[in-house]
Amino acid sequence: MQQKGFICLKKNKDILIATSNKGKVNEFIKLFDDYNILSLVDLTIDDAIEDGTSFLENALIKAKHGSFHSGKYTIADDSGLVVPGLDYEPGIFSARYAGDNASDEDNRDKIIQKLNELSLEDLDAYYVCCLVGIKNFNDPMPLISYGKINGKVSINSSGEGGFGYDKIFYPDGFDCSMASIDVQIKNKISHRAIAVMNFIDKFKNF
Ligand code: IMP
Repeated sequence: MQQKGFICLKKNKDILIATSNKGKVNEFIKLFDDYNILSLVDLTIDDAIEDGTSFLENALIKAKHGSFHSGKYTIADDSGLVVPGLDYEPGIFSARYAGDNASDEDNRDKIIQKLNELSLEDLDAYYVCCLVGIKNFNDPMPLISYGKINGKVSINSSGEGGFGYDKIFYPDGFDCSMASIDVQIKNKISHRAIAVMNFIDKFKNF
């Protein structure tokens, strides 16, 4: 019987991960071990200009850019922190919330400042990751998956691990910040891990 999932993409085929972030590429290499995973750096393709207005639009822009320049099946992601009580900020601007060259600390400080202005200690928030896979530039039916992890952003910073907003993000079900959670556990519960699991599920049945 023909295996349902891999009709569109035979094993050992190339998949481009449209990022120059080595950490992300290594994650995909482990997860897609039947395929030959390539990055933008491997194919000397520049990063795309992310001028979409949602995580989905930006992921699609990155996937289309990678696919156009490589001709290969391409997967791209976009992720960030969303605080509904702050008008859905920082959202797609998560990496540059406090300005174009802002550090992670500057971005966290901007959230803390906004909470202080509202005299709040914390607010509901979530991390989200959107993944898009396309067979080629003209693929009219991109494969889309999301991963989301709920929690709170707080004026209290703690923990030494992670990056970005992890020091002020307290995931539901944990009594510590994301930056205090063991990296192996974070990699299992994160928005990225959930999006990748959902993606693989759909990819295999596509
Ligand atoms: P990217 O799409 O993975 O490049 O993430 C964009 C921005 O979202 C990062 O620069 C961080 O500010 C934020 N972000 C995304 N994922 C995480 C996470 O797991 N922890 C903390 N911050 C994150």
